[in-house]
Amino acid sequence: MKREHVIKPILDHPYPTIQYGKGVYLYDDQGKAYIDGCSGAVTAGIGHGVQEIVDAMMEQASKVSFVYRSQFTSEPAEQLAKKLSDLAPGNDYWTFFVNSGSEATETAMKMAIQYWQERGRPGKNKVISRRMSYHGITMGALSMSGHVLRRRRFIPLLADLPVVAPPYCYRCPLGKTSPSCQMACADDLNTAIKRIGAEHIAAFIAEPIIGAAGGAIVPPAGYYKKIKEICEQHDILFIADEVMTGIARTGAMFGMEHYGVEPDLIALGKGMSAGYTPMAATMAKDHVMEPILQGSKSIMSGHTYSANPQSAAISLAVLAYIEKHQLVEAAEIKGTILLNRLRQMADGIAIIGDVRGQGLLIALEFVADRTEKRMFAANIGVTSRMIEKAFHKGLLVYPAGGAVDGEGDAIIVAPPLVITEEEIDQLVRILAESIREVMAEVIP
Ligand code: PLP
Repeated sequence: MKREHVIKPILDHPYPTIQYGKGVYLYDDQGKAYIDGCSGAVTAGIGHGVQEIVDAMMEQASKVSFVYRSQFTSEPAEQLAKKLSDLAPGNDYWTFFVNSGSEATETAMKMAIQYWQERGRPGKNKVISRRMSYHGITMGALSMSGHVLRRRRFIPLLADLPVVAPPYCYRCPLGKTSPSCQMACADDLNTAIKRIGAEHIAAFIAEPIIGAAGGAIVPPAGYYKKIKEICEQHDILFIADEVMTGIARTGAMFGMEHYGVEPDLIALGKGMSAGYTPMAATMAKDHVMEPILQGSKSIMSGHTYSANPQSAAISLAVLAYIEKHQLVEAAEIKGTILLNRLRQMADGIAIIGDVRGQGLLIALEFVADRTEKRMFAANIGVTSRMIEKAFHKGLLVYPAGGAVDGEGDAIIVAPPLVITEEEIDQLVRILAESIREVMAEVIP
């Protein structure tokens, strides 16, 4: 079979062909097994080849797979929106279904802007984000992303939106130390709002725990409480981008539960269908919907596949599976085990600067010098070497870092929430071998 018709991420790189997956393992057509140490793109939360999901898929397909959202609603879509609202912090959300995380954050941006228009304040149309953030690849989502590398080619087409300092304590962007800094990074939002003028700002968007742009960066306790207070003081909506953190990944159904904050809007993706179908969502609290319901009564967004019954039924089955197998609790328990094992492993490996995370969203940051926290030069490609080395040994890990001028090396370890202790041991063993081999290559 000629395979050169598919445009792959790196065009001259040989990609193995997948044959099947079961649990935390994937198998290629040569029979090689891979531990899915990152759930693909932090997506396959319940593991591969789960029969209950296949059954739900078949059952819905035998009724109807697709209806257009302007013509019909469906039982699975209605049930899923209700279920998400029941699970979310505060329990009073409406849901707009989309197909990817980028669409979910972009829709949240549009809804925030529309909310202020309906309230007679159309000048409030900018969204503030943070440096070191990733909210998606479409132009609106990329406009809100503080990810220099991914933005670079498209700068002239992107909205010039403000960014503030991330809560990155390992390497504070403001040169301070926690806790004596008193969360100056949160104050940075306040400063930016005052500089730009709250009358121009619709919303602030943040990932509860920074994912691909930094690598499982957990904010200091109290950070989001302070952020929410600042947003409320200035009449600004708070959007939580839970595309990576949402649906059990961090040991809570929603990442923001760890911080006791109820976002005005939430973007979901990845884990909500666990990779069994493209599915994502933008959730909006009752009070955000109210002026829209009283005003134009319609959200100016939508996609052909929005709210299709097939994807909704699959997502419902994924949520049922998570509850039945107590995977929120499992993420916390297994996450603690994995984090401890990785920290023990790091003790003996000089280039591991930091091991951090929450639940089963964990990252390792690599440094050329541990004491000085000196980064490797970008052209050494430490992250890609790590990923490639582990891949050859049968372990998948996910790249992070590189958001600021392409510098910074980190990998995300985020296996399916069903991983066993034995599988964790195997994962850590292969990872340690891979890191040691890369270290021998890059430190003469
Ligand atoms: N937001 C966050 C936090 C993400 O991690 C991602 C993807 O990695 C996105 C948005 C974009 O999601 P998608 O790739 O499904 O468009």
